Amino acid sequence: MSKSKFFHKNCIFLFKLQKYFAIHEKEKSKTVDEVNKMSKIVTEIVEANKKYAANFGDRGNLALPPARGFAILICMDARLDPAQYAGLAEGNADVIRNAGGRASDDAIRSLVISHKLLGTNEWFVIHHTDCGMELFTSDIISGLL
Ligand SMILES: [Zn+2]
Repeated sequence: MSKSKFFHKNCIFLFKLQKYFAIHEKEKSKTVDEVNKMSKIVTEIVEANKKYAANFGDRGNLALPPARGFAILICMDARLDPAQYAGLAEGNADVIRNAGGRASDDAIRSLVISHKLLGTNEWFVIHHTDCGMELFTSDIISGLL
């Protein structure tokens, strides 16, 4: 299976998952407009993925290990584009993202896999200015659960 088909298949799965959650969220608290907006976003993502997959070309043959031999751990902040600010292309590096770019248990698990199974030899933990994670404490998050 080529990567382009793989990505598209994943988006279809995402779409089905989103529909599942949309239905259940609708039953709980979402208005019909909110569910329709969510469905519109899923449709936009699937359409964008179709275009991306159609132009994926030879990148479907990229090796699994990151070609540049490094991984970065970075905040999930939507304003950050690791490919742009770190000069990355598909297949260059493992990129692990979470809120605040924290070395959480799962991030460390990913970094260990990156090193032990995928051969990366350098890791970069990159933080940024104006991080939203500075605006609240873990106690506040715990209260939201
Ligand atoms: Zn951040």
